[in-house]
Amino acid sequence: MIRLFLCLSLIWMTLPAYADPPVAIAIHGGAGTIDRGRLSDEQEANIRAALTAAAQAGHQVLAEGGSSLDAVTVAVRLLEDAPEFNAGRGAVLTFDGTVELDASIMEGATLAAGAVAGMTGVRHPIEAARRVMTESPHVMLVGSGAEAFARSQELEFKDPDWFITEFRLQQLRAIQAQPQTATQLSEDWFSTVGAVALDAEGNVAAATSTGGMSNKRWGRVGDSPIIGAGTYADNRACAVSATGHGEYFIRHAVAHEICARVRLTGVTLAEAAEAVINQVLVEAGGDGGVIAVDPDGNISMPFNTPGMYRASIDSEGQLQVAIFGDE
Ligand code: ASP
Repeated sequence: MIRLFLCLSLIWMTLPAYADPPVAIAIHGGAGTIDRGRLSDEQEANIRAALTAAAQAGHQVLAEGGSSLDAVTVAVRLLEDAPEFNAGRGAVLTFDGTVELDASIMEGATLAAGAVAGMTGVRHPIEAARRVMTESPHVMLVGSGAEAFARSQELEFKDPDWFITEFRLQQLRAIQAQPQTATQLSEDWFSTVGAVALDAEGNVAAATSTGGMSNKRWGRVGDSPIIGAGTYADNRACAVSATGHGEYFIRHAVAHEICARVRLTGVTLAEAAEAVINQVLVEAGGDGGVIAVDPDGNISMPFNTPGMYRASIDSEGQLQVAIFGDE
């Protein structure tokens, strides 16, 4: 009798571990020429701490039964507030020294999506993108229209100067001081932020937020707010958030391309993401990377640059935080 009881309790104790549907989250803070030695110990520690905090906050939402949409929103909001990254406060500066923010969000269950581009003043652009998705009949709003919509939603606004950090001012001055790059986009360091997640209901979601590329002008918009390029989520395949040279990610519809390969060709998420980032984009000359998750909880984070700020908590609950290519 005792043996039977012990046996039953053992089965009962182990059952939930197998029965619990998987949840998973991955986040990024940009890709680029992030070599050891380029970051001070303090910068590296701050970045790792911010990545850890964002991944854990998103994962907590999932662990408590929250939606993947809420998890990616929570994670991206934290990264928008972290001045180390190119989103929200700390975003890169335009040719004119201003901040123009882009963001997008998508849910895999319904293919509902929202995006904003070329927007200033909104503290959390990802919230604006989410409201476009849930509170408007549209997918994308730009410039003063996006700002007016954000005001109508009573989102938090900050003075334009609040977004500008000393680091970004110096970065812009350095680019503009060189005759060969004075009027070009700065390509060597992308630090857009993003998150992808799978919740216990089996729904995936993706979110991306950025200031775009340093020294951009003429209302330039990159891939981050473009559904299918910088962000995509489809429960039949995966959720993807990208970072890199946006023009290439738009031309190759990178986020959608990865999901389409998974859905239509039967390759794994890792195979699809690797092929698009390390073959298609490399051949085209496009630098960058993606984070991706599928409905089984598989995570893939390929990049073709020396490093990518990234973190994940997989379906086993394992936290991984990494910056360099050899980690
Ligand atoms: N993909 C972004 C853009 O082109 C830049 C980045 O990833 O940092 O606007």
